[in-house]
Amino acid sequence: MSDYAPGSGHGGDAVVDLRSDTVTKPTPAMLDAIARAKVGDDVFGDDPTVNALQERVAALLGKEAALFMSSGTQSNLCGLLAHCARGDEYIVGQMAHTYRYEGGGAAVLGSIQPQPLPNQPDGTIRLEDIAAAIKPDDPHFARTRLLALENTWNGNVLPGSYVAAACELAHSRGLFAHLDGARLFNAAVASGRTAAELARHFDSASICFSKGLGAPIGSMLVGSRELIHRAHRIRKMVGGGLRQVGLLAAAADHALTHHVERLADDHALARRLAEGLAALPGVTVTPPQTNIVFVQVSDGRGPALLEHLKSRGVLATGLIGLRFVTHLDVDAAGIEHAIAAAREFFEKA
Ligand SMILES: *Cc1c(COP(=O)(O)O)cnc(C)c1O
Repeated sequence: MSDYAPGSGHGGDAVVDLRSDTVTKPTPAMLDAIARAKVGDDVFGDDPTVNALQERVAALLGKEAALFMSSGTQSNLCGLLAHCARGDEYIVGQMAHTYRYEGGGAAVLGSIQPQPLPNQPDGTIRLEDIAAAIKPDDPHFARTRLLALENTWNGNVLPGSYVAAACELAHSRGLFAHLDGARLFNAAVASGRTAAELARHFDSASICFSKGLGAPIGSMLVGSRELIHRAHRIRKMVGGGLRQVGLLAAAADHALTHHVERLADDHALARRLAEGLAALPGVTVTPPQTNIVFVQVSDGRGPALLEHLKSRGVLATGLIGLRFVTHLDVDAAGIEHAIAAAREFFEKA
């Protein structure tokens, strides 16, 4: 075992928490930015900090307008409902967050029918599958209105040529295109492209401040002025009208300034973790493109490995396949500790 003493990070927790990049605590500098934020009642449009952030993010993503959201789920929901009316449908990956992990909100709250299609191992949906799923204008069918893609998808960066072709197909058939970019900045840093380039072909995009960027709360939806105007009413309907939200916008603004380029460090630690785990017997690791490492453990020993790691202060998720996510509150020593703890599991077995 390494002699790493968990708890050296600013979070002060006695664990190396690799369950998700959502577990980060605000840094002292971020808390300071929150304390200094100028605020107002955003339901009146009076909060200068959120107004400035909305302009900053719209420009950063190359869109006309942006709207602060409480969560990525709320942001995707408002985007889907702003694009689609009752009785419309959206094409989406079978494993996409906007289909599988948002409580069926688009169907429940918008009467929008999902048309899920298989995700290929790299997160793409085959163009021929998309083309075949677009329904003709016929009273038998729901109106196919929207294609929703996700980038990164399970930590994979969607190929740029694929994104362009898929959005081109959608637009040529009269559909809109929405990007769930909860981890778009990871994709940007990993691919060396700007967030605006990655969002360019889409009519709307959602980004999260509370994943790798390390803010405590918040997401943003971007798109045309008209779309954001519609999304604003929907956000109000779902209880997302916030008051002195500049406190959160200040954290997000700080994260955009200070925590984007450093995502490369998370990606490097994910590669180091992947390399360390791949050296262990009976372990198969998918080489990570960004900050998420997927690990298969032979002979159904995944849950036992998770338990062992937990006893050594290392948290991860999964059942058959395990998932480790690197982030702002994990350092190189923590990753070496995690690798050593996993090695110990196989040595004592
Ligand atoms: C986390 C995440 C979201 C939004 O999740 P919230 O927990 O609602 O903020 C959306 N899409 C993807 C791909 C995500 O990983």
